Amino acid sequence: MKYISTRGDRTERRFSEILLEGLAPDGGLYLPTHYPRVDAATLERWRTLGYAELAFEILSLYIDDIPAADLRQIVHRTYTPEVFGTEAIVPLKPLEPGVALEALSNGPTLAFKDMAMQLLGHLFEYELARRGEELNILGATSGDTGSAAEYAMRGKKGIRVFMLSPYGRMSPFQQAQMYSLQDANIHNLAVQGVFDDCQDIVKAVSNDIEFKRRHKIGTVNSINWARLVAQVVYYFAGYFQATKSNDEEVSFAVPSGNFGNICAGHVARMMGLPIRKLVLATNENDVLDEFFRTGTYRVRKGSETYETSSPSMDISKASNFERFVFDLLGRDAERTRRLFKEEVEQRGAFTLEPQEFARVKDYGFVSGRSTHADRLATIRATWERFGVMIDTHTADGLKVARVHVEPGVPMLVLETALPAKFAATIREALGREPERPRGLEGIEELPKRFTVMPPSAQAVKDYIAQNC
Ligand SMILES: *Cc1c(COP(=O)(O)O)cnc(C)c1O
Repeated sequence: MKYISTRGDRTERRFSEILLEGLAPDGGLYLPTHYPRVDAATLERWRTLGYAELAFEILSLYIDDIPAADLRQIVHRTYTPEVFGTEAIVPLKPLEPGVALEALSNGPTLAFKDMAMQLLGHLFEYELARRGEELNILGATSGDTGSAAEYAMRGKKGIRVFMLSPYGRMSPFQQAQMYSLQDANIHNLAVQGVFDDCQDIVKAVSNDIEFKRRHKIGTVNSINWARLVAQVVYYFAGYFQATKSNDEEVSFAVPSGNFGNICAGHVARMMGLPIRKLVLATNENDVLDEFFRTGTYRVRKGSETYETSSPSMDISKASNFERFVFDLLGRDAERTRRLFKEEVEQRGAFTLEPQEFARVKDYGFVSGRSTHADRLATIRATWERFGVMIDTHTADGLKVARVHVEPGVPMLVLETALPAKFAATIREALGREPERPRGLEGIEELPKRFTVMPPSAQAVKDYIAQNC
């Protein structure tokens, strides 16, 4: 399998070449030259596999430059019950008939980002050792990516992490998770701004090709293809648990921000997994809901981004969205480049032609939005009816999912975090403290290690240069 850019650079790169990269040199995102189709016999065979073996089969279709025995070992070391809590790795939790949660948040940082990031940690370590190289990971996080990256990379040889987070804007638990890490290879940079400022800085530094090369800068942001492909696995695993035969269809509801999670669902569907609908849920930051309702993609400024009680979805610009638009436009890279480079960068928006927008339904996408009041009501009702405590992001997904349930089609709502991470809203909804997994009591009391930074790419470059 080879990889190309969404903006017209057709240089065909191998997996290990893009593994440690962020954006393509032309500013686009990497995608495989095609999506391998999974035939009925293969799907039947995969149905009986354990999670790690399923992951091996799927990843093998996209990675042909790591020997199979090595890849299999990496995957089996990643997806273990010790790290993810259960044999199933992503067990379903049934709610009302036809609706279930798919639990993706039982990894070390209690959010779905561990699903991909734990694999990335092992892949990076493997690839760097193979090359005898080092890597400085630069990332931006609104909470969950950063902690997942740091827990995946802590103590790994040859790797340093420089993680930008919006100063004071994450929950106390999230801050404690990240800032309490004392590993010398982990650097927390608290930026005086919002998440999008952090993301813009990462893009600016990554676009400085010379700096990037000199300091061996890599990324683990959601634009990384390896993360995306790792997430494809749990769409298959959810499907196999929810159905008895491969004639059945399933819908997925996905609490969305940067469009990384649901983009993996799109890839699974393109591979032939019988997905009926991909239900995209946003919070009050509804850039993506607006697009799927109207065909207009209008990014917001930092100052127009609401701080909500589902903060990992407080996104005003969806960094993976370009991948879907590229596919939607029949992989017309010139049109994609014009929309994202010229229209979005110059005017902050684009509107698809009616005939282009009409194709969205062929890709199964529908959308909806959820508010703080919806989250409270959904968390409360789920607790009262089923005795199941859900977090605020999962609540957004469940609220929007219910609008799109169809008879005879199981709806799987991706549980993207555990309630322990968002205690304030749980207290508001339920008048009680969230359940906290063992070993995480008192984490807020641990000493914190972070550096406050102005929202400036130069300041971040200077810090990196001094610390690597
Ligand atoms: C990152 C995150 C999301 C959004 O996922 P995207 O891939 O950015 O769309 C939703 N919920 C939680 C808890 C997250 O951490």
